[in-house]
Amino acid sequence: MIGENIQQIRESIAKAAKLSGREAAAVELVAVSKTYGPEEVREAMESGQVLFGESRVQEARAKIPMVSSRARWHFIGHLQRNKIRQALPLFELFHGIDSLEVAKDMERIAGEAGFLPRVLLEVNVAGESSKFGFSPEKLRAEMENLLGLERLQIEGLMTIAPLAADPENSRRYFAQLRNLRDALQSEFRVGLPQLSMGMSGDYMVAIEEGATIVRVGSAIFGSRKKPDPGSGIAGPPEAV
Ligand SMILES: *Cc1c(COP(=O)(O)O)cnc(C)c1O
Repeated sequence: MIGENIQQIRESIAKAAKLSGREAAAVELVAVSKTYGPEEVREAMESGQVLFGESRVQEARAKIPMVSSRARWHFIGHLQRNKIRQALPLFELFHGIDSLEVAKDMERIAGEAGFLPRVLLEVNVAGESSKFGFSPEKLRAEMENLLGLERLQIEGLMTIAPLAADPENSRRYFAQLRNLRDALQSEFRVGLPQLSMGMSGDYMVAIEEGATIVRVGSAIFGSRKKPDPGSGIAGPPEAV
């Protein structure tokens, strides 16, 4: 089941990439395994999936040692400041850097612990009060400070589109993220190649709008039984 889902999603990714004039290999699939156990991750790995996404540090800390070390992990949720130290050695990319404060803490702790973390800046494009992330204005205002953090490898932007039944509703938010990325690149003379956008319901539209990373959970693993407090999508924040 999981294997078939992954195959089908890979085909859809290739199709959408082609529509945006790119190779399928230009889009990375993060299989979002939050709330699912090591069994499901192993099953996905049998289909050749090696990249997984988690939104809670505690859950990931328990899960990661239980699966093959060939698996690679991205942190996709809101990172609590008191979890940064634990998170640094576990993840190769942090999608949800959503404030200058978190970025500064990460810079300091990465310095102490000897890491050069790769990060994406989360933008709350639609301005939803339920979501984490920089507003586009705030990101512009703080970009200079963010770029001054020498340990952080800022590779691009990430967003979560508002929940909608029709994926076409997400298109303008993805286009806005891409346009913001383009503007920041020329204003600040930096490369921001990565656009992490698109989930189970709207990843094809996201790819058409330029996504380089899509984060797909339920379309691979099935709908989650447990709520996900780590993402800012729903529910209260993770307990300290
Ligand atoms: C849970 C989650 C996803 C995956 O959501 P699905 O709708 O299950 O594909 C993607 N991104 C983030 C940040 C998430 O928290």
